[in-house]
Amino acid sequence: AAKHQGRNTFQIYEVSPEYAQQHGMALKTRLRHAEGNGELRVVYQPQVNTETEDIMGMEALVRWEHPELGMISPAVFIPLAEESGLIVSIGEWVMRTACRQAKEWEQRYGLRLRLGVNLSAVQLMEPQLLDTVAAVLRETGLDPTLLEMEVTESISIKEAPNLVENLHALHRLGCHIAIDDFGTGAASLDYLRRLPADRIKIDQSFVRNIGVDPDDEAIVRATVEMAHRLKRAVVAEGVEIEQHLQFLRQHGCDELQGYLFCRPLPPVSFDKLLAERQRLLEARVAEPA
Ligand code: C2E
Ligand code: MG
Ligand code: MG
Ligand code: MG
Repeated sequence: AAKHQGRNTFQIYEVSPEYAQQHGMALKTRLRHAEGNGELRVVYQPQVNTETEDIMGMEALVRWEHPELGMISPAVFIPLAEESGLIVSIGEWVMRTACRQAKEWEQRYGLRLRLGVNLSAVQLMEPQLLDTVAAVLRETGLDPTLLEMEVTESISIKEAPNLVENLHALHRLGCHIAIDDFGTGAASLDYLRRLPADRIKIDQSFVRNIGVDPDDEAIVRATVEMAHRLKRAVVAEGVEIEQHLQFLRQHGCDELQGYLFCRPLPPVSFDKLLAERQRLLEARVAEPA
């Protein structure tokens, strides 16, 4: 099916993790020029309201379109970018590109969609992070409260006081914070307690097991309940089938993200989605009561 959808869907990865491991050095060298050579792309995946299925926001996801190797997954090149420190400039490029795009959609459709941007722990350790984000917001004119930083629990916050301070500073700037891949790291609850998190993203490894593993179902339910008691919003990732949707709806998960609704889309396709949404809304308004 992925093949049939072609490259436009940005789903076909031609570089295997084994290849990446063997050619890590060469890939790193190429990656250094990916941004300058215009090989990086940002795709956008909608996050929808569980009840209405209306679009509430989108997550920006980076892609590397290598001229000879084809599309390379972020799961492959983000770790390389982190090792080499390149993630700082790549991350800034993604943030600027996505904020500019979000502002454009806001102006075109009058929609205030939330924009999720992934931040690597390496970026979060950088003392300049706050200045970078403030500059991007100023340049693009995006409302800071529409920008949501997604942070994973890949790093122990005890070893990274900078990271906690940076997140608080981003929060003071007005940005929102989401804990990504919640439940997969060793420090989920510690993160929740010590970071100014507005949203929890339930990891897809739990969502995938809805209808399969009662333990994972229990974890999903408990996470939604805990998030709500702590007055945090909760979004489920990797929602692929109707059964996931029904379960998450029944248990009050606020928002959903996954292939059931939409794959990550290149900007042109996401724009079409927004145009279609607007057309439907206008048709509904025009209908006689
Ligand atoms: P993530 O932030 O947890 O992003 C969600 C991943 O799940 C994305 O993979 C998305 O395409 C995929 N996904 C969405 N819906 C479904 C579904 O229904 N089923 C399945 N199986 N997967 C689904 P992607 O785009 O390959 O990104 C992988 C990871 O790479 C991201 O996980 C994030 O950790 C990292 N990443 C992506 N873009 C960036 C970026 O700009 N900066 C940084 N630092 N990391 C990034
Ligand atoms: Mg994410
Ligand atoms: Mg995630
Ligand atoms: Mg992930």
